[in-house]
Amino acid sequence: MRRAILFAGSCLVVTLFLSIMAATKTSATPQEAKHEWEIHDRNRPQPPVITPGTGSTQEKPGLPPSDAVVLFNGKDLSGWESIHGGPALWKVGEGYFEVAPKAGDIQTKQAFGDCQLHIEWSTPDPPHGEDQDRGNSGVFLQELYEIQVLDSYHSVTYADGQAAAVYGQYPPLANASRPPGQWQTYDIVFHGPRFDPGGKLLRPAYVTVIHNGVLVQDHVAITGPTAHHQRPPYHPTPEKLPLRLQDHNHPVRFRNTWIRELHEEGQ
Ligand code: MG
Repeated sequence: MRRAILFAGSCLVVTLFLSIMAATKTSATPQEAKHEWEIHDRNRPQPPVITPGTGSTQEKPGLPPSDAVVLFNGKDLSGWESIHGGPALWKVGEGYFEVAPKAGDIQTKQAFGDCQLHIEWSTPDPPHGEDQDRGNSGVFLQELYEIQVLDSYHSVTYADGQAAAVYGQYPPLANASRPPGQWQTYDIVFHGPRFDPGGKLLRPAYVTVIHNGVLVQDHVAITGPTAHHQRPPYHPTPEKLPLRLQDHNHPVRFRNTWIRELHEEGQ
């Protein structure tokens, strides 16, 4: 009897131990999970095979990678809508779309989580205005966090409001602006914030921005949503939200816009 109890007890201990190990395993961070594989394990899942895109020139936009969600097909704004509801009423030209001043911001119909975004933009030539009133628009990641679009070529404004700034938070590491009228590129890697079920912030959003091929935001921790003259704290948000573009009353153009959602290894 005593032996049976001991045996049952041992089984319970082993079961508990295995459960704890399993729980520990499933709660491993992505970085830890990557190290669960033995070196050169041939059973490790292969990454998906894709066809890479091509670079753009001033005359011609490049091709997106084969697994990208193309946000502008060069012809219409069918993937976009007004943030106030209804169709996106911005102008569409040959291979580009343009802010229609007073039409309001637009956003993608699709929502996105952690992502890689490529977007090209061009400010009016000849330029008009100065400071913030010069080729102003914006790329709002998850509709809340603005990467500034502005004509910052030989034009001065406050550092955390120039082109490629995380608006109101981080100036770019360099001013890599091209002249007005030329196409400029943003390549953005964005990891959204995470919240626990009670809405407590577990992790801020992080963003990396490459402007015209130059690293200008190096994995910075976003302090919260973009606002005018303030830095409000985070509020709980879904893991996926639309991409939004700003109407700041200037006819800024966009083209070659695509996004790739990011997934953990093997997913
Ligand atoms: Mg702006």
